[in-house]
Amino acid sequence: MIDCLFCKIATHAIPVKAVYEDDLTLVFPDINPQAPMHLLVIPKQHFADATQAPAELLGHVLKVAANLGERELAKGFRIVANTGQDGGQTVHHLHLHLLGGRRMTWPPG
Ligand code: AMP
Ligand code: ZN
Repeated sequence: MIDCLFCKIATHAIPVKAVYEDDLTLVFPDINPQAPMHLLVIPKQHFADATQAPAELLGHVLKVAANLGERELAKGFRIVANTGQDGGQTVHHLHLHLLGGRRMTWPPG
């Protein structure tokens, strides 16, 4: 999608340090990390948020995040999908935050 930041990252038009990549997804560090490890998992295809994406793709994106968390964050991790205005979403291309490396608090802000 034109003028979508994460579409440009997905096609490498804007370079990022890819942590993982497959046919459907790209994983890269968040530019403003909120934990010692803070990765973003995005589908390469544009969907505004989780409500718009097909179930199979959502499952794949979630599994990629969970696999990375299991591999890199043995003590646990958090996967977040901010969705819409009240959800705090600022980039309107579906993405999962994978956060870890410190003890998370609850409730979230
Ligand atoms: P959200 O607020 O849930 O929509 O998350 C968007 C995330 O994208 C934020 O955590 C930003 O720090 C992150 N972000 C914005 N621009 C970039 C970028 N160029 N590279 C990596 N992460 C970014
Ligand atoms: Zn996009």
